[in-house]
Amino acid sequence: MKIWCATGNPGKLREFRLAGELLNVEVEALPDLRSIPAPEETGATFEENARLKAAYYSQFAPGLLFADDSGLVVDALGGEPGVYSARYAGEHATDEANNRLVLDRLGDKPDRTARFVCVIAMAKGGDVVETFRGEVEGELLREARGPAGFGYDPLFYFAPFCCSFGEVDGEKKFGVSHRGNAARAMMAWLRGAGDGASRQLAARQASSNDAADRI
Ligand code: IMP
Repeated sequence: MKIWCATGNPGKLREFRLAGELLNVEVEALPDLRSIPAPEETGATFEENARLKAAYYSQFAPGLLFADDSGLVVDALGGEPGVYSARYAGEHATDEANNRLVLDRLGDKPDRTARFVCVIAMAKGGDVVETFRGEVEGELLREARGPAGFGYDPLFYFAPFCCSFGEVDGEKKFGVSHRGNAARAMMAWLRGAGDGASRQLAARQASSNDAADRI
């Protein structure tokens, strides 16, 4: 089974391919993504943004296409930076500037709990078919730790690993991350082994256990 992915990020594509390999799902980048004008991410939630991207880009794909939206949610900042994670410190802000702003706003607040959230939306011919949400819980450090990853990874302490996401390799992070969890839910759904809601949907649609053939 082959599905298309609307990302120009080679790191994300590698991760999604890895998740697909386990279940024999081939993930292909949407060809010519860069020549397609990008839609404005006007959603107020990760889900809205993932849905609008998937619906839009699926018009250019020959089959099922997915798009994701993700970011950091900090409890003591009322959920910020949230959907503004990439541009928290300004439109073309660097990761360092975004990290600094989070630390400045957090100051000495004792509650450092935070989570990464990822929503993947799957669409076909302009219509969203299903969405998948993944999260991972952590705590924000007082300074960046580790050279690995990107974005807020060096600030994100993950207790089960006893280190920040900036201190683990990508494959190990993907095994527990928000994007990994959302991607695994999507792959399971595609193979007909999803959660209860997906099973209900699958049951409504057909008796075949291959969702991509049904849609
Ligand atoms: P996007 O979903 O690729 O647009 O990600 C939005 C922003 O959220 C990124 O630019 C990062 O700042 C942040 N972000 C999303 N996922 C991660 C992650 O796995 N690690 C660190 N930062 C992330």
